[in-house]
Amino acid sequence: MARRAPEAPRLCAVSVDLDEVQCYSAIHGLPPLPAPAAHAVYRRALPRLFDLFESLSIPATLFASGRDLTDPHAARTLRAAADSGYEVGNHSHDHFYDLSRRSRAEVRQQIDEGNRSIERATGRAPVGFRAPGYTITDEMFEVLAELGMQYDSSVFPCPLYYAAKVAAIGHYRARGRPTHSVIDDPRVLRAPAEPYRTGTPYPQRGDGLLELPIGVTRDWTGRLPYIGTYIVLGGSLGARALTGLIAGRSLVNLELHGIDAADAREDGLEALAVPAQPDLRLPAREKLESLRTALLGLRARGYEFVTLRAAADYFSGSGSTPSAPGPAEA
Ligand SMILES: [Zn+2]
Repeated sequence: MARRAPEAPRLCAVSVDLDEVQCYSAIHGLPPLPAPAAHAVYRRALPRLFDLFESLSIPATLFASGRDLTDPHAARTLRAAADSGYEVGNHSHDHFYDLSRRSRAEVRQQIDEGNRSIERATGRAPVGFRAPGYTITDEMFEVLAELGMQYDSSVFPCPLYYAAKVAAIGHYRARGRPTHSVIDDPRVLRAPAEPYRTGTPYPQRGDGLLELPIGVTRDWTGRLPYIGTYIVLGGSLGARALTGLIAGRSLVNLELHGIDAADAREDGLEALAVPAQPDLRLPAREKLESLRTALLGLRARGYEFVTLRAAADYFSGSGSTPSAPGPAEA
């Protein structure tokens, strides 16, 4: 039988940004919700995601904001997750959407304090960073390197998402609603969509920090967003179609938000869902089914599930290499 050439790796890393409900109030210019709805991401949505991951034996990376860990329940949740094999990454301390526009000293303080809060809660120092709102700069990359981080995963080179964000910010400004969101440098759209070492400016390749870009479908399909928000909005049919369009990338970096598994009615979030967050109108059960369809579709195509840290080890060639895909692929 003829030998087949070794194929490119097929790794999938699932991550969850644990943006608490107050982030969505801020981004949509709405007043904050009272407790218990204010804690729905950690207390209601995250347990549903744990059930999904555990039912499929999928490891995942959780990106936490340090400020949320002053809540003992959140800190205990992350400690237990880290003890059972989840990676906990740094999503900054205060989740300022305009972190990329703040001074270098403030950027450093936000990243450093995020690391410390997570280490206090979990007993483990984070090695990966995700910027609030996917907006990162060369200066932020320099600070991450100074602080000894191993990888960043913030670059989202997605034309459709970029256009949607510009439109949403314009919509809020026109109505006098004070959104906290900021528009990224359009050069991000020219960044590689596969793992790469950043140059200066960061959308170019170089020998800087390792970047694991957020998932977009393959270039010839227009780099559509392969993130939780769009997968849950598309339902199982949409999830199946998008998964077909990203398959073939060496790393599928599937980024979810905790709120992807929230349920407006059951979790008391109607005030957010009606005006601002259409995915919240869908029942959690349906959204989890769409995510399960995506994950099973990737597994059926030979993807091996790893944390982002393990993916970073693999792509930097420095650490434990995940086992090769199954013998049928070799
Ligand atoms: Zn976030």
